Amino acid sequence: GVSQLNGHIKPRYVRVNTLKMDVDSAVQELEKHYTVQKDETVPDLLVLPPGSDLHAHHLVANGRIFLQGKASSMVAAALQPEVGWEVLDACSAPGNKTIHLAALMEGQGKIIACELNEERVKRLEDTIKLSGASNIEVCHGDFLGLNPKDSSFKKVRAILLDPSCSGSGTITDRLDHLLPSHADNMNYDTMRLHKLAGFQKKALAHALSFPQVERVVYSTCSIHQIENEDVVSSVLPLASSLGFELATPFPQWQRRGLPVFSGSEHLLRMDPVEDKEGFFIALFVKTNKLDNQKS
Ligand code: SAM
Repeated sequence: GVSQLNGHIKPRYVRVNTLKMDVDSAVQELEKHYTVQKDETVPDLLVLPPGSDLHAHHLVANGRIFLQGKASSMVAAALQPEVGWEVLDACSAPGNKTIHLAALMEGQGKIIACELNEERVKRLEDTIKLSGASNIEVCHGDFLGLNPKDSSFKKVRAILLDPSCSGSGTITDRLDHLLPSHADNMNYDTMRLHKLAGFQKKALAHALSFPQVERVVYSTCSIHQIENEDVVSSVLPLASSLGFELATPFPQWQRRGLPVFSGSEHLLRMDPVEDKEGFFIALFVKTNKLDNQKS
């Protein structure tokens, strides 16, 4: 019911910024005031009781932990960048996933963080500063305008693409859509989704076209097939011509893509139920690299 949608029963997730603090020290510090568990899916993610208010906590203020939801924390983890790689974050502000990448890469290698919106570039820079990461290069501009053949991208091995989406997996938006009076907005909403999906498809195709890239993650906080499975299926011919296949992020995760094309079982969905937001992740891996991993 609607009472479940008010968000208060959601556990509070915090991601330890391992660039500044190790997980056990963070657990020790937080256990002074809260019951703390390690998340079963994402390393470095801690689960605290619903309603835990950490906004003013000193670990948050000094960037040792970040208030980041579970779904959001699964995205960089799904990309699995290796230490020392060059990685591109295509749509990066406010930078939660960018700095997660930096932590996973142990502050080594390089991250290029692209962001179109000038105001949001500032937020991105603040997040980076707070994280202490020193290997992130901010690029203010249109991801679609980056030339994949440019020499600055020739070493990019992985791309995280978390583009603008309808946000329909988040609670406020979901409540809106549950109200019958909003039926009038159906056409407007459908048009908006298709417009968003147009950009998402272009951006995903663009990400796949960087010559040295072997891993691409596409994610949304939307529950709509139009922005999720449909975007992925639209690039499959291109992806396979470039040697990419869908891989299975978090294989132990139960909820997979809607069964609308063969291969959608690789996709990952999170349902907007009592303690979780709506979310979607697809992982493309270059086939020869998949073989390398197996052997
Ligand atoms: N990944 C971010 C995080 O975890 O903090 C959230 C990204 S948000 C969903 C999408 C971002 O993409 C917005 O900041 C938006 O301004 C940016 N964006 C939209 N179109 C873009 C484009 N063509 N090139 C680069 N960034 C773009």
